[in-house]
Amino acid sequence: ATPTALMVGVGRAGQLGILVKGQDALESSGRIDTVVLDKTGTLTTGRMAVTDVVPAPGLTPSDVLVPAAAVERSSEHPIARAIVTVADDLTALTGPSTSSGTEEGSRTDRSTTMAEPPHVTDFRALLGWGARALVDGKECIVGRLDTVTAASPTTPEPVEGWATDAITSAERAGAVAVAVRHDGTLLGVVTMADQVKPSAQSAVEKLKEMGLRTVLLTGDSELVANHVAAQLGIDEVRARVLPDEKSGVVQSLRDEGRNVAMVGDGINDSAALATANLGIAMGQGTEIAMKSADIIIVRDDLRTLVDAIQLSRRTISTIK
Ligand code: ADP
Ligand code: MG
Repeated sequence: ATPTALMVGVGRAGQLGILVKGQDALESSGRIDTVVLDKTGTLTTGRMAVTDVVPAPGLTPSDVLVPAAAVERSSEHPIARAIVTVADDLTALTGPSTSSGTEEGSRTDRSTTMAEPPHVTDFRALLGWGARALVDGKECIVGRLDTVTAASPTTPEPVEGWATDAITSAERAGAVAVAVRHDGTLLGVVTMADQVKPSAQSAVEKLKEMGLRTVLLTGDSELVANHVAAQLGIDEVRARVLPDEKSGVVQSLRDEGRNVAMVGDGINDSAALATANLGIAMGQGTEIAMKSADIIIVRDDLRTLVDAIQLSRRTISTIK
């Protein structure tokens, strides 16, 4: 490889908002045949909005949202932000307490006890599936229904049908759904949607035109993942992958003899960025992502990803 050709590539990349770390980066990307794309925050905006709250029979939406938001206030996850936002909106609408009662106060005991902001201790992020804390001294878990249920070994009752129904129909429509459990009781299901980035459609189309195989990687369920993949025309789906399993998926693709570019935002996927033949971090990213990636795309636009791979191919043909 002539260093001059590589330097030209790096310079042009800089103009496009692509930062190339080290000279090996562009050279290896020329041989890429597979592009693995992280879903949340990479293909989608990562800004979720709550679309529905399905309370358990006899409960109200605020019975679900108040304890859920109490837990999620300590989490940075996009799901957490969506839940806190809608809970605060609801509080602003209905007021912090249900005042003296009358028609509202008689609904359930829980409504009146939850009117005061709950006391939260012992928050813990459950990596890849949820969050938990003690809310008014009792464990409250927000996360994937299967794990939320499994995490309460004292109450191994079968999962309520209304909850599975709510989650399945939401996920079929591409919405993410989480369950809320407090003190062993399933309070309800919160569903939220995340938007596919406007640049994602044409970017995936171009990658495929370039003969690259595309793979969607996510911790979300198969239903949600399949919905996004179908929308964008992505070839393969790897769903329900825990954050610490993501680099293993990239490694297994490499073991199949593929030459893999991994595209992520660095939230949960920095190890996968490092494992790929070419790690590409999108947008602001995290500091670890910046360290693990070979290429950093400054602009939050997936078409720049296509530019990066095209540019690297051109750089390679100049060298050869
Ligand atoms: P991705 O791989 O697409 O970036 P994540 O690994 O961040 O997704 O999350 C996967 C799943 O874990 C979510 O769909 C959700 O069910 C659950 N989850 C993760 N964090 C939280 C949280 N703070 N609150 C509720 N659920 C969560
Ligand atoms: Mg992510």
